[in-house]
Amino acid sequence: MSTVILGGGIIGLSTAYYLSLARGPSPAIHIVDSAPALLASASGFAGGFLAADWFSPSVASLGALSFRLHRELAEKHNGPRRWGYAGSHTYNLSIDERGVAGKSTGKQERKDDWLREGTSRAESAGSNPEANGRRDAGGGDGGGEGEVLNPDGSPAVWTPQAGGTLETISGPENCAQVEPRELCEFLLDECTKRGVEVHLSTKATGIITDDNGVLKGLRLQSTNNAGEAGAGELELECKDVLISAGAWTPRVFKALFPQSKLLIPVEPLAGHSIVVRSPRYKTPFVNPTKRRIGGASDDWRCYSIYCAPGRHWSYAPEAFARLARNGETEIWLGGLNDSSLPLPELASDVKAMIDPESIKSLRKMTVQLAGLAKEGDQANHDDLETVREGLCFRPVSKRGTPVLGKIPEHYLGVRPGGGGVWLASGHGPWGISLSLGTGLVTSELISGQKPSADILGLLIG
Ligand SMILES: Cc1cc2nc3c(=O)[nH]c(=O)nc-3n(C[C@H](O)[C@H](O)[C@H](O)COP(=O)(O)OP(=O)(O)OC[C@H]3O[C@@H](n4cnc5c(N)ncnc54)[C@H](O)[C@@H]3O)c2cc1C
Repeated sequence: MSTVILGGGIIGLSTAYYLSLARGPSPAIHIVDSAPALLASASGFAGGFLAADWFSPSVASLGALSFRLHRELAEKHNGPRRWGYAGSHTYNLSIDERGVAGKSTGKQERKDDWLREGTSRAESAGSNPEANGRRDAGGGDGGGEGEVLNPDGSPAVWTPQAGGTLETISGPENCAQVEPRELCEFLLDECTKRGVEVHLSTKATGIITDDNGVLKGLRLQSTNNAGEAGAGELELECKDVLISAGAWTPRVFKALFPQSKLLIPVEPLAGHSIVVRSPRYKTPFVNPTKRRIGGASDDWRCYSIYCAPGRHWSYAPEAFARLARNGETEIWLGGLNDSSLPLPELASDVKAMIDPESIKSLRKMTVQLAGLAKEGDQANHDDLETVREGLCFRPVSKRGTPVLGKIPEHYLGVRPGGGGVWLASGHGPWGISLSLGTGLVTSELISGQKPSADILGLLIG
């Protein structure tokens, strides 16, 4: 019998991808999403930074598996051209301002505080001695063809900062980037080719059981553009249900199991972002030592930069000089989060909640980091072209790590029979990086196989 996946962000899509790879068209796989189109959520607006080993111990195995799967998928399906997959040099920018840069917070932070509090990811790289070695700002490749460099050897896409030091915190062997929307579109394409059915503007409103109280299916209802119940009703038989609705996961669980005592430990954390084009980043950077002359694709490289709060910004900005489809170049910037923004009914409602003041502040930061430098102490010139402005909600778990696995029967009030109700959510700022690994292990669990990563510390219940 079929599997129904509630939520078609990158976690639901990755799971459908690996399930359908193993199963083919039968038993059927359904993706049910309440929004009128997929990818209006975090998975469509995220930065797309991937890391192999920036994770706390309970996530380490999943993180390493996922990083490997990203590379293998990109190699097999021309990821560099199709979803901008490229290894990433990663810098920490510190600015010498007494009382700000390098200032100790005075508290001994847990390594995964960044995830729970939504602060900078770079802190977690700082905890990795291997990744933390000081290297030249150019990242060791010496600059590729078409790559304009600053005097310190760093790529000219980043404007030199007065008193600023760029420290390489990781290299392309341990970090990479993707354009997450394009990766999701690839996964969706592959899924639909293999017969996965997608039901948009649809919510699950109840569980159907057989005479013995065993899970037999879901009751679905179509929704209008405000997320209210529409006319269409459908009953879908299934053995397994996966809830992977990102920040909406607790709501979806509550709608299906209103009597359950289980509180899904996931909360929304909103983040604004912008994407721009720069005249100093026109062609993809190429690793000259691995150039494949006449070959299918070059070994492209991209650049990420993490900054501590400072004179020009009060938060911890992250900026990614990345690639999009066919080697188009762009810069993604984010880091401005707002825990007070309420989660709307539908992912597609988020667009109307974009705060112009937050975008203005991000724009100012972008110009400071990537605008055209002027003589002396003058502010940089804004010669950047806006590609898009965005807002989305990360699903942040209270314990700071993803929450995966089968929901124990005693929380459900229905008997799972041969299948079950599964959960994959709470990936916080790492859902793109951890997506493929999560999809593979969730598909393995649903299929009754041993998971390819040690996820013992991530299980629900
Ligand atoms: C600003 C920002 C930058 C980020 N940058 C990075 C990064 O660089 N690297 C990284 O690894 N991660 C990053 N992340 C985190 C990453 O984007 C998320 O962890 C990830 O996208 C979560 O994926 P998801 O599939 O769980 O949820 P989502 O992408 O939010 O998808 C949830 C889906 O569930 C659907 N849904 C909602 N309600 C229902 C319902 N009732 N029934 C059915 N479906 C429903 C929604 O419509 C949506 O399609 C970033 C996040 C933000 C906010």
